[in-house]
This record gives sequence, C-alpha cells and structure tokens, in this order.
Amino acid sequence: MSAIAKVTAAIMAATLAMSGEAVAKPLAIVNAEIYPSPNAPLISDGVVLVQDGKIIKVGTRAEVSVPKTARVIDAHGAVLTAGFWNSHVHIMPSDLMGAKASKAATLEEGIQAMLTHWGFTTVFDLGSSTENTLALRKRIASGDIDGPMILTCGDPFFPEGGTPIYVRQYLADHGWANEEVSTPKEAADRAVRQLDRGTDAVKIFAGAIVGGDIGVLPMRLDIAKAVVAEAHKRGKPAFAHPSNYAGINVAIDSGVDVLAHTTATEDGSHDPYGWTPELIARMRAHNMALTPTMTLFEWEAHKIHQKPEVTAQTIKLITSEVKDFSAAGGEILFGTDVGYTDAYDTTEEYRLMSGALDWRQILASLTTTPASRFGYAAHKGRIAPGMEADLVLLDGDPSKDPTAFARVRDTIRGGRVIWGADR
Ligand SMILES: [Zn+2]
Repeated sequence: MSAIAKVTAAIMAATLAMSGEAVAKPLAIVNAEIYPSPNAPLISDGVVLVQDGKIIKVGTRAEVSVPKTARVIDAHGAVLTAGFWNSHVHIMPSDLMGAKASKAATLEEGIQAMLTHWGFTTVFDLGSSTENTLALRKRIASGDIDGPMILTCGDPFFPEGGTPIYVRQYLADHGWANEEVSTPKEAADRAVRQLDRGTDAVKIFAGAIVGGDIGVLPMRLDIAKAVVAEAHKRGKPAFAHPSNYAGINVAIDSGVDVLAHTTATEDGSHDPYGWTPELIARMRAHNMALTPTMTLFEWEAHKIHQKPEVTAQTIKLITSEVKDFSAAGGEILFGTDVGYTDAYDTTEEYRLMSGALDWRQILASLTTTPASRFGYAAHKGRIAPGMEADLVLLDGDPSKDPTAFARVRDTIRGGRVIWGADR
C-alpha cells in the first residue's frame, strides 16, 4: 500500500469509527407475526428492517429482502409490535435516585426491573425529583445506560396542607423540599422554573388524599389554573391526580389534559357510584385522556388488608369507568403508577384492562394513543418505514390473551436491543 493509500485508509477508518451509528449494521427481525398498529392487519411471517435507528422496510418474507450484512434476530413465530409507552410512572425507587453519581450498572438494573423488562421504550414520569430525573435522562441519552425515552413532569404540585399522606414519609426520607403551593403566583413561578429546566409537562394534585377528617383535599381552582396555564403556554400537557369527583372537577375546570387515575374513593364524599354520563361528557368536551392505573387499586387494597369482596367492588367500579369513558370516545393511555408502587409486572394490569377494553384498544393505549396525544405520532407508535425502531417482541399473541403483552422477549429502542434474550 502506498503512503497516500495508507493515509486515506486511516482517515476512512477514523471517519467510520466517528460516525459509528451512521455505518452500523442493519438489523433484521425475521419470522415475526407483526401487528404494525392497532388497526392494521397482521403480517404473518414478517420482516422488519432497521437502519440507523429507523425502520426502513416492513413486509412479508417475500416482500423484504434481508441484506447479507444485517444482524438477524430470528423471532420464530413471536409477535412484534411497536414499543410500549407507560404514561404513568415515577422515577422514585431508591436504586434510581442517585442518577448523577450512581454506577451505570445500578441504574440500568433498576430501569430494567421497572421498565424495559416490560417493553417500555417511552415513559411519562408523573412526579419525581426534577433534578434527578433530568440527570437520569441525560445518562440514557448519552448512551451510558440503556433505557427508555423519559418524559417528565418533574416535581408535583400539592395543595397547601395537601401533601398526600402516602408520600410524607418518602419525602422526609429523601430530604425533599415542601412541594405544596399556596398562591397562584408561587405556583406559576415554580412551573416556569421547572419547565425552563426542560420538563415536559406539569402534574397537579387536583384532589390530594390527606386522610383524617378531611379525606381528600381539593386544590384551589385559581392555583390549579395557574400551573396548567404555564404548561399550555408552551404547548405542553398537564396531568392531574383526581382522587374523587371534586378533584375531577378541579381538573376539568383548570384545563388539565390527562387524568392520571380512575377514581374510587371511600372518603365519605358521597360520590355517585361510578362516573355519570354527564361527567364523562364533560371530560370528553375538554378532550381529556385517562390513564386507568387499575392495578394500583388492588395494590393499595392489599396494603391495608382490605376485604376481598370490597376490593372486588372497587375493581368493578373502576372497570366500568374505563369502559364507559372509552365507549364515549375517550382516549385511554396505558399507565400503572410503577415507581410509586412496586407492582412492576404488568400482567395484572392487562388482565384488569381486558375487562373494559379489547386487545386492539389495549395496544392503542400502549402505542398510537400516547404517541399522538404527546406529539410523537410522526416518529413513534407504529411499525412503518421512517418511524423510530422502537419495538417489542412478545412470546405470545395478545389477540388471543391480552396478558401476552407482559411476556416480553426483547425490548428494542432505536434499533438497539435494550432488554431481553437477544441483547
Ligand atoms: Zn402516580
């Protein structure tokens, strides 16, 4: 090799090394049963071809040829869907709290256990330490840790005197500042500070469970409106924790976009049984979406040793709320409240949801509905050319058994296996 050829070869090698991603091998997932979106027909014996983090081709084996250079994942009959969203999580477990200083392996194990093991390639954090969650997101984005895309509300807003009874100990243990807001100005100022730091939404406790004689404390409407308005000024969504009818009313009247839970209160507030058609119509008129978090109600019931027949009544109630809201055209966003709960396994949530929704509606709640609600429909939520290669390979067919959504073989984000057998 001549001197010039040697130099050229060296430059080329250096260029290739620097642009590692741009020249990465294509990824081909073959032999898969593909559900490209909730409404598209099944592609049997399908192939998905990925290059540079994006899907470039989708079709049957006959339609898509696999380049010789590709890394091949043989799905042998497993089911492939778009990557899942969990639209209600909390970056709160202690193994995720030291995001700045902790070892990558520690953080990644925590993320796997709670999120990527269950197919989540995008999550919406509905309340955590803004600083810690932004630090974690940065380490994932830098490639230091494999994890989902994290959108976050940052620190939540509690009413004055309304720090929820079930987080008081946690906040004290972790040395958190008081998250209560007393005036519209104080609330708006904090919302501005958080959004300026890069948070993606706000979360208010429209109804905060404080226990005692009060039970559920609603947030003052002027304060709720002040927080929501700051998010809306920037085209960002507002979430609310409702707890009861009064909380839902504050959420609706302040312009909240997503209700973070169904409601089932035993607080003596004499709510009517279930959501009335009038209430659902008001929620729909305000284009409000819902994360059901159905497992949460069982998890809480278990914690206080509630009688099984009482829990069964609660489940019946929230199932009817989800069913009626969806039937009225309301958007359902899959969400479990993990990070607050330790119920990481999603099997039970799918079992409970299937009492209210069919499997295609559940798939929509995991993929297309959150992608479109949060402004990512052009990039995420479907398996189609040009979309980000966020994919989930399932050992089981959710059209036959919705709990198969929990049997994740591989979680793939941007064409990279971030959890599972083929990592
Ligand atoms: Zn929550």
